[in-house]
Amino acid sequence: FDQRDGKIWMDGEMVDWRDAQVHVLTHALHYASSVFEGERCYGGKIFKGHEHSLRLIESGRLLDMPVPWSAEELDAAKAELLQVNGLTDAYLRAVAFRGAGPDMGVSSARNPIRVAIAAWAWGSYYGDAKWQGAKLDISRWKRPDPETIPAAAKAAGLYMICTMSKHAAEAKGCSDALFYDWEGYVAEATGANIFFVKDGEIHTPLADRFLNGITRQSVIRMAVEMGFNVHERRIRPDELAGFSECWLTGSAAEVTPVGQIGPHDYQVGQITRQIAEGYDRLVRA
Ligand code: PMP
Repeated sequence: FDQRDGKIWMDGEMVDWRDAQVHVLTHALHYASSVFEGERCYGGKIFKGHEHSLRLIESGRLLDMPVPWSAEELDAAKAELLQVNGLTDAYLRAVAFRGAGPDMGVSSARNPIRVAIAAWAWGSYYGDAKWQGAKLDISRWKRPDPETIPAAAKAAGLYMICTMSKHAAEAKGCSDALFYDWEGYVAEATGANIFFVKDGEIHTPLADRFLNGITRQSVIRMAVEMGFNVHERRIRPDELAGFSECWLTGSAAEVTPVGQIGPHDYQVGQITRQIAEGYDRLVRA
């Protein structure tokens, strides 16, 4: 991925893609002092771009890592990046991290906080088979207690078990993994939130212990406006057998139908289609 044409925004400068590098003694590489964003641009407009800029800054704050740019400056950087790369439909990845500097211990307040943003064309997150319904494995790892890690931050350290769980899922022929939380309730996938349907009503885990996705919040608002009852609540694993439909939401995943979780099957049903089509209209509005 590092050998491409184009520009990457790095600490206020446009850098050639191949030259957007960091030193191996970058603090973030050793201690996960890194927060990031994933967002999509549709027809030249980033969906909720400002909210993503604000979330990057908030994630940095939660990690005691003040991002040295304002949300407005980040918005402008993203706009310029899309323009210089000639992109109108793209995925954007912003990352803020503690760089290399005078310190190399756990404590490194003197090392600079660096920010980079890249953008590239990225199609369907789960590939062409999206409408067949994703198959989810159940992760052997749990989403952690917010008392053990700042779980509301979109922080690199929270993704170690995501990569491990997704690799394990892929080895079993699944496309993603579902996490339970440390108390055993249904939580989220490795890079997306989850929704269920029962008796025409929508159910989704309360997002007070994992990332409350910007897509999740948009889909809830949209579903309520469409007239659905949406229940944000604790969902027990034994309820998975009783739902008829299921989908994932995320900036990369958009609205992706789920066909299977472990032994449970779901239809790619009418409500999933209605929500996915509504989301497609919303992001292009
Ligand atoms: N949970 C996790 C772990 C994620 O990585 C993502 C993707 N950012 C989400 C949920 C969904 O968040 P959003 O809708 O803001 O992209």
